[in-house]
Amino acid sequence: RPPAYGVLPRPCRALVLLNPQSGAGRALEDFQAVVQPMLAEADIATTVFVTERPHHAHEKVRDEDLSQWDTLVVMAGDGLLYEVVNGLMERPDWEDTMKKPLCILPGGSGNALAASINHYAGNDHVAKKKLLTNCTFILCKGLHTQMDLVSLSTASGKRLFSFLGFGWGFISDVDIDSEKYRRLGNARFTLGTLQCLAKLRVYQGRLSYLPAVPEALPSDSLLVPLCQPVPPHWTVVPEEEFVSVYAIYQSHLGTNLLMAPAAQLHDGCIHLFYLKAGISRVALLKIFLAMARGTHLDLNCPYLCYVPVRAFRLEPRTAAGIMTVDGEALACEPVQGQIHGRLCRVLSG
Ligand code: ADP
Ligand code: MG
Repeated sequence: RPPAYGVLPRPCRALVLLNPQSGAGRALEDFQAVVQPMLAEADIATTVFVTERPHHAHEKVRDEDLSQWDTLVVMAGDGLLYEVVNGLMERPDWEDTMKKPLCILPGGSGNALAASINHYAGNDHVAKKKLLTNCTFILCKGLHTQMDLVSLSTASGKRLFSFLGFGWGFISDVDIDSEKYRRLGNARFTLGTLQCLAKLRVYQGRLSYLPAVPEALPSDSLLVPLCQPVPPHWTVVPEEEFVSVYAIYQSHLGTNLLMAPAAQLHDGCIHLFYLKAGISRVALLKIFLAMARGTHLDLNCPYLCYVPVRAFRLEPRTAAGIMTVDGEALACEPVQGQIHGRLCRVLSG
């Protein structure tokens, strides 16, 4: 097993993948004004790769020789890191390449991993420029550790790797519907939540999971093909009507949403939340307001369920609703996922 912690060499060579369209569109400006001076002090040399289109970063890290870089830095939202992780996992040498530390600098409107890492590092809750400064400081210090990834497979045969979360229903609707307000930064999610509350609806499907607690770790894959029923030691949720299902593996769903306070970078755990149909709009709003402080479970709302799991399967009854992986839209179809402990490394303070 590789060491849990490592430190970047000095001098250090960083490839910075930067999405100039992220968030309010200021990533390049902020990089030059805030990040670059700090990195220069820390003896970290940067080469900036500015993405020109979706998938550009994916192709770059999939196809190129990355041996000259000590770290890959993503200055964007979670969406660009999602591209990078999946591009790296498509390489024939993925096992070696995934040992290279990744770093997230919040440049987008969805900066959940940056907020999570800031939280794990014991820093106060901050947003915007302060969060960027904290994350840049974490890069300057150069301490990196392992992070779990979740592998998702869909009925149509896609295989995806995810570092943040998988969602369906209300939360995913907010995430995707609010993309048009990206320029508002993180406020896009507050506005999106209120808009989606107005057209609240129910999604039908079957949710199953393998609880995280019992028995020794099976060495083989935890999953059986989607065309077969889940193994008998899995739990099948009796209700089949949901407002939302969200499987998160980091603490934060957004800069101001502390969804899984107990989550850690390598806890080997998927934190599965689901909201059952029947919840009122007011109760739903209360949950989202409480999530700012991570106190939503203390509300003891009977419609909100939480269970730590190692694998899950979601079989929507119809192809209704948006699914998301790390905040990016996914066509709605049966999907299952399992945790893979310590599959990559990130700068973590
Ligand atoms: P945000 O947090 O604002 O959503 P992200 O960095 O997550 O910002 O990026 C959102 C999407 O933009 C990603 O799906 C990514 O593929 C795409 N993207 C990357 N580079 C560009 C570009 N130059 N122009 C437009 N879209 C881009
Ligand atoms: Mg995004």
